Amino acid sequence: MAPERGGGGPKSLQALVEQLERLPGIGPRSATRLAHHLVRVPEADALMLADAIRAARARIRPCSQCRAPSESDPCATCADTARDRSLLLIVETPRDLYAVDATGAYSGLYFVLGARLSPLEGIDRSALDLGALERRAAQDDVAEVCIGTNPDLEGDGTALALLEALERVNAARREHGGAPVRVTRLARGLPTGGQIEYQSASAIADAFEGRRSAES
Ligand SMILES: [Zn+2]
Repeated sequence: MAPERGGGGPKSLQALVEQLERLPGIGPRSATRLAHHLVRVPEADALMLADAIRAARARIRPCSQCRAPSESDPCATCADTARDRSLLLIVETPRDLYAVDATGAYSGLYFVLGARLSPLEGIDRSALDLGALERRAAQDDVAEVCIGTNPDLEGDGTALALLEALERVNAARREHGGAPVRVTRLARGLPTGGQIEYQSASAIADAFEGRRSAES
């Protein structure tokens, strides 16, 4: 019988490699190494990974308010009555939310975009779900929305789309005789091109303290 050839090893191993390769940041080499590791370790150890994926997928849903992953709805952050409910910080990812929250410098609520505009990757405005943001920002208790996209090209482009969405919110608010929300943006204390999730607590705190009006 001829040995199995091609991508290396039995079909099921190749299928595992293929699945791992679909994960962000995992190239063919890493995927192959991980797959071989998973079939080598005791079965129970390997299946703990499968169980963790299954459990996380079964229990975690986006919070209906901020859209961060949560086992409850609203999530613990949105349900926290000690927070300033008049303040909304828009971040690109849940990881940004956790990074900002870990600083303790911000006590308002959040809105997670879950995407950023990237013309090079073909990610356009339809990926942003601006309607959800507009509905959230239109809620009566919101007085200020701070744009916390990353200080790079995609983050700036995304911020422009957010500004337009928030202008629509304010137009509607004025139409109903309400006060417009104040729209601000994190200060440029963050190094340009730097990702929020990798900044020090003090840099994030400074960026929030120095936030400025984003309206023209
Ligand atoms: Zn939430």
